Amino acid sequence: MRPTIEYIQDRFDHFNSMCFGGQLPPLPIKLSQARHYLGAIRYKRQRNLLGQVVGCADVALHISICYDLEEQVIEDTILHEMIHYYILVHGLHDTSLHGDIFQKMMNDINRRYGRHISLSHRRTQAENASDQKRRPHYLCVAHLDNGHTCLVVCAKTCIFQFYKKLPRMYDISDWTWYFSPDPYFNRYPVCRTPKLFRIDDPHELSLHLCNATEMECNGRVMKPKKQ
Ligand SMILES: [Zn+2]
Repeated sequence: MRPTIEYIQDRFDHFNSMCFGGQLPPLPIKLSQARHYLGAIRYKRQRNLLGQVVGCADVALHISICYDLEEQVIEDTILHEMIHYYILVHGLHDTSLHGDIFQKMMNDINRRYGRHISLSHRRTQAENASDQKRRPHYLCVAHLDNGHTCLVVCAKTCIFQFYKKLPRMYDISDWTWYFSPDPYFNRYPVCRTPKLFRIDDPHELSLHLCNATEMECNGRVMKPKKQ
């Protein structure tokens, strides 16, 4: 799933009362397209005339919707950022970004509430973004009636299901199926449920489709299209 602001707000309120004694003040929630992190607490440091940090302003919780993630991962990401937020609003001085205080709170919440908050989300996402291994990708690139360009990387076993169902789910004006081993497509989840992801940069996509093999499909067989 990809979280909405309403969903994140609901989880924030729930975890705030369950795990933080309702001590966290409300803050703006923003969705981002970031590839290198799942969540972040962002703020500006306020300094006095001597340049010393005296506070922070414009604190906001950013959650990336770049990846289609399991709900539990999204919840644990929100909790991870809420620990950062707790440390920030209480002015606690941790030994490092994920220092002793952070890890003690994380371990307490994991133990008491059966969560799986980790330190590694950022690193994992960065690794995904820089995953340069060549893998086989079966993709469908679709243009919708509303002008949007969309894409889905489809599990090989699900191609014909997608072929049948996608046109019933979306107003597709035209579509093309491709095979490509380009690592660029590693950033997309391999889907088993029919869906399309909107592409923000069709030009970038077109550069990576230049070397892709166009496929033809009749609903039962998919093979490289004869040029
Ligand atoms: Zn963190």
